[in-house]
Amino acid sequence: WHYVFSNPNNISLDKPLMIDGITGNHLTYGQVKSNSLRFRAGLHKFGFKKGDALCLFSQNKVDYAVVMFGTVAAGGALTPANPAYTAKELQYQLEQTKSKIVIASAETLAVALEAAKLAGIPKSNVFLFDDREIDGVQPYTKVLLADQEMEAVEYTYEEACSTIAYLCFSSGTTGRSKGVMTSHMNIASNLTQLSQHTKGTVDVATDRYLGVLPFYHIYGLTCMIHLAAFQGTPLVVLPRFELASFLNAIATHRVTFCHIVPPIFILLAKDPSVTKYDLSCVRYFWSGAAPLSKELSEAVAQRLNVGVLQGYGMTESSPVSHTPILSNIINGSIGELLPGMKARIVDESGKDVAPGERGELWMAGPNIMLGYLNMPDATAETIDKDGYLHTGDVAIMTEDKQWYIVDRVKELIKYKGFQVAPAELEALLLTYENVADCAIIGVYDPSQATELPRAYIKLVLGVEASDATAKAIIDSVAKSVANHKKLRGGVRFIAEIPKSAAGKILRKELRELANQEMK
Ligand code: ATP
Ligand code: MG
Repeated sequence: WHYVFSNPNNISLDKPLMIDGITGNHLTYGQVKSNSLRFRAGLHKFGFKKGDALCLFSQNKVDYAVVMFGTVAAGGALTPANPAYTAKELQYQLEQTKSKIVIASAETLAVALEAAKLAGIPKSNVFLFDDREIDGVQPYTKVLLADQEMEAVEYTYEEACSTIAYLCFSSGTTGRSKGVMTSHMNIASNLTQLSQHTKGTVDVATDRYLGVLPFYHIYGLTCMIHLAAFQGTPLVVLPRFELASFLNAIATHRVTFCHIVPPIFILLAKDPSVTKYDLSCVRYFWSGAAPLSKELSEAVAQRLNVGVLQGYGMTESSPVSHTPILSNIINGSIGELLPGMKARIVDESGKDVAPGERGELWMAGPNIMLGYLNMPDATAETIDKDGYLHTGDVAIMTEDKQWYIVDRVKELIKYKGFQVAPAELEALLLTYENVADCAIIGVYDPSQATELPRAYIKLVLGVEASDATAKAIIDSVAKSVANHKKLRGGVRFIAEIPKSAAGKILRKELRELANQEMK
């Protein structure tokens, strides 16, 4: 669990680990290790104790790794927060996690100070994630980065299984974000499982990862920072996603392996600016967090001559549970179950369905969370007595053990007696030349007492948002799908599909639009 310090893979201390994708400045593996242990010493001096929580509230930076590893080395739990949060949202996370210290960037400082005040955290426990002092807030490097290193707190195996290392919050797609208690062992397991399962996918000597997804989300935290440090793969860090700087960083730093999300795939498939950059260095784009269709995978693979891999995971599974093995990549599939895990697909009564049939995915393994923070009831509803986490996602497993995600149970649209998966219609619409982006929701029609599938569509620049365009789309979909999946709820044109930084469609916002229209 403290692999960064014990360095079991004998990574050279001089190897660049965290590279700033804009300035090119970097921290070597040895610097990350040493700074983390100095940070651990600084926390100790400050009175931060075993079991305390520290909140990091910032966009991605190379030092993110130092605060992460230093906090867990001090026996604490790191709770990374979404830098887009309002003071109220951050206050909730600070209170839920009982954070002792908050580290904020210059951009997020004002919100952090307000939230800390609301949560009763003194200003002297708020630090800047920077070398500067702003408004009397000290840089963490001055107060919390001691001159001397201090050994990491040690755990027995049992302690590593039961001690919280990270308190990430779920994306809040289906309701309020939930704090997820992730142990040292959960993370260590997921890293080992991933490394074993994808042996040969990563070339440790030459590969370079891109850290463009937010590190506050478990996808960025584990698959970017942890995996890079575990394997000794340099990670090129960008503060946030923006198409031009993303493409430029890949080309400049010769990134070979990019963990991204479906909204970025849509741009890679469709945006005209993409071909202006030399992306020949990329071997693989890896997708997670939301459905990536076969069609979109193929479009990107062909346009950029790259391999496309899709995994699946949840905050609750630290996060990865499925990903393809290199010798067997099937576009549209999430690949195979990671070693050490068990999974079932069950019907509504909890009975296993036959291969090829749809049902809810349940899974168990050493990477499944300890539980939801302060929510024993929600934990008991989600993890059953046999240790299976009920994912809330509809999946299919084929005879040859390939897994597919259909959609979330909660997102399925009920048209009369039939079910319609938004992801399937979205995948179809994205193949249309006129469609830059799209999302499907169900809108309730009281006159028929049923939900109807409606498409929200962002058109490609220059295409007219007219009734004729809408009709052409509706007619075209009707020709390709079964009767119950037709766009009976109509088409609405929209400037941008609302999405989270972690890559999910914010259907709640579209439902709001639909409700306003009804009024
Ligand atoms: P919340 O639980 O707070 O409502 P969330 O489920 O979106 O939000 P995360 O833990 O970030 O929070 O996301 C996990 C979910 O993301 C999965 O349950 C699944 O619905 C979706 N997901 C992840 N990977 C894929 C994938 N490859 N295909 C389809 N869906 C995916
Ligand atoms: Mg969830």
